[in-house]
Amino acid sequence: MAQLLDGKALASQIQNERLESVQTWQAQYGRPPGLAVLMVGDNPASAAYVRNKEKACERVGIASLGKNLPTESTQAAIAQEILAMNKNPAVDGILVQLPLPDHLDSTALLNLIDPAKDVDGLHPINLGRLVRGEPGLRSCTPAGIMRLMSAYNIPLVGKQAVVLGRSILVGKPIGLMLLAANATPTLAHSKSQNLPELTRSADILVAAVGIPNLIGKDMVKPGATVIDVGINRVTDAATGKSKLVGDVDFAAVEPVAGAITPVPGGIGPMTVAMLLENTIVGYCDRFQIPFESF
Ligand code: NAP
Repeated sequence: MAQLLDGKALASQIQNERLESVQTWQAQYGRPPGLAVLMVGDNPASAAYVRNKEKACERVGIASLGKNLPTESTQAAIAQEILAMNKNPAVDGILVQLPLPDHLDSTALLNLIDPAKDVDGLHPINLGRLVRGEPGLRSCTPAGIMRLMSAYNIPLVGKQAVVLGRSILVGKPIGLMLLAANATPTLAHSKSQNLPELTRSADILVAAVGIPNLIGKDMVKPGATVIDVGINRVTDAATGKSKLVGDVDFAAVEPVAGAITPVPGGIGPMTVAMLLENTIVGYCDRFQIPFESF
């Protein structure tokens, strides 16, 4: 049976370890780290994600300084809010919860975030630093994947890695991070040919597509590390209730893989843990506190 890569347990350990430092810093510097999550509209899934992030902040002692703006907010009003957060000295990290309503230009808004507060790592400056291999704020989901594999000592050097998905949020940055870790990544997408053949060549297989159970056991090399980023809501045939599943058919793949992440409880909690870490990195930069990675 595959080793379970328990993102929930690791995320919780990371958060517990940070709590003490945050309390010390608050006493020393007069304020805790602050994260501002900007949400526009009332998309229920986004609202749940935002609540989740705020609860995680609370557990670590990070101040939540977010705002909820109405769906009909204009581009100019949201831009003004982001610029105010850039200036606010209590804010170390800014995250614009995506997706934004259709009438808004997300890219233009994300580009307004001060790169030093860009805890989602989506500003062109931070993405450019990733491409160049320079230090900078890294996207939370790919950073969480790398942290989880590192914690479980998954070997990467010289390994074949296949990433399904090429989004700016997950696929492209995880491809670059795997490359920086000296793996040999291939990025596949909806136009890629012979996917099963490609995925069977992978020592590390990352699925970031958004199609439930896309990866079956015949697509996985025996012993491979399988990272399931997908979060898909489906109806359970047996109970009729809705539940979350990944892009990997966990029951079928688990006996073949060497290591595998569950959904839920894998990359999702690691993403939140890296968001908190990025906020702490911003805070440490501001107060010139030497930052040590967990
Ligand atoms: P996205 O922007 O929709 O990108 C999906 C990618 O999958 C695209 O590059 C698309 O190719 C590719 N694709 C579509 N069908 C495919 C197929 N049959 N075979 C191979 N590739 C295919 O999605 P995303 O934002 O990257 O998110 C992907 C999934 O991860 C979603 O389920 C999302 O909810 C989840 N997610 C989870 C977390 C977390 O914290 N766990 C964070 C972010 C996202 P094209 O480029 O050719 O269209």
